[in-house]
Amino acid sequence: NLALSQIGNQMSNLTGVRAIMKDIQETLAARKGEEFINLSAGNPVILPEIEQMWRDYTQELLDSKDYGEVVCRYGSSQGYQPLIDAIVTDFNRRYGLNFTSRNVLITPGSQSLYFYAMNAFGGTTAAGQMKQVVLPLSPDYTGYGGMAIAPDSVLAYKPTLDTDAANHSFKYRPDFSQLQIGENTGCVLFSRPCNPTGNVLTDEEVQKIVALAANYDAPVLIDSAYAPPFPSLNFTEMTPIFGDNILHCMSLSKAGLPGERIGIALGSEKFIGTLESFQTNMCLHSSRYGQAIAAKAIDSGRLADLATSVIRPYYQHKFTVLESGLAKFMPQDLPWFLHRGEGAIFAWMWFQDLPMTDRDLYQALKQVGVIVVPGNSFFPGLREDWAHKQQCIRISLTASDADITTAMERLANVVTQVYQGK
Ligand code: PLP
Repeated sequence: NLALSQIGNQMSNLTGVRAIMKDIQETLAARKGEEFINLSAGNPVILPEIEQMWRDYTQELLDSKDYGEVVCRYGSSQGYQPLIDAIVTDFNRRYGLNFTSRNVLITPGSQSLYFYAMNAFGGTTAAGQMKQVVLPLSPDYTGYGGMAIAPDSVLAYKPTLDTDAANHSFKYRPDFSQLQIGENTGCVLFSRPCNPTGNVLTDEEVQKIVALAANYDAPVLIDSAYAPPFPSLNFTEMTPIFGDNILHCMSLSKAGLPGERIGIALGSEKFIGTLESFQTNMCLHSSRYGQAIAAKAIDSGRLADLATSVIRPYYQHKFTVLESGLAKFMPQDLPWFLHRGEGAIFAWMWFQDLPMTDRDLYQALKQVGVIVVPGNSFFPGLREDWAHKQQCIRISLTASDADITTAMERLANVVTQVYQGK
């Protein structure tokens, strides 16, 4: 038995959705002959126009005199200067801001950015105070679970549900009557658009959260992995929100570059500086090849253009296919709900009073060749018992139209039987 440290043990746990992903891989490997419709993927689809763009900029880099400087040298922890400049110029022009290069940090994927932030702003202070990482609306990104070195620091809040039973539709809202942001708040974190639900918090909701946190100088990290201007995976009107205590956090993963690991934080210098030092200790800096091609794609405007002309319509269409499938096959008289599809690359369903757990429903769907993700792994930091946690599933919008439709038909059959107690 390997004697690991407490943190070693903690970090080697398969947290959140990783445990399910392991089960899915094992199922697919063990039952090779069977055809599965896999709606569990978090990996974006490789869209030809996007791949071509990255290929073109790679070629440009290969042909340029900068190649050696980019790939054969260490760089600064903060990031590759042309990428930082491209971001500052793009955001200042697009949103009328006054950022300088001191307001940007490039990280190896945004996951690492949240790791730094959760542990720099959350956890026990020198004075012995436990600073919390507040997730104002649960469910949220499963990856936030397991990142905190002090797991007790992560505290999520149950939402209120805005339901439209006649249309089998619902939307989560932050519950401001419960949400506590105060002296103990180290930082606040949420995804907008949200993975897994596709929710987009309204401007007012965001402003309210930001104002609460501003009273305590706590940074609010807005995880914009699906937000405009790239990848622009919002299906409803939304504008990024900036402010003194906001860290606008981005990722190029859903803009076709998950393999290159590019995360970007944009915000006050004092927060950026803290995160930059954390990064220096952790890994020095992000890969410069990825940063160099990203700089070109942002500078030329091509990435933002393709985001709205290719990436967004692709997933928005998938959501309508899923919606039509549900409307066609699901029984009207059962209490199923589809979360409003406001963005991201997933659909989120809630089955009120489901007579089995989400985990059992996941198993039952596997039996008919459909793989989804049970919802309970998307409530990191939510301590309360809440039946709703075991009544949801996440469905990826990365499958073909035909597969999504077939899967919705099978889902309808399974769910009908489950509610009938068969
Ligand atoms: N945040 C959200 C909401 C995500 O969905 C993901 C990935 O799926 C991440 C962060 C992490 O992305 P990356 O580390 O690739 O930037």
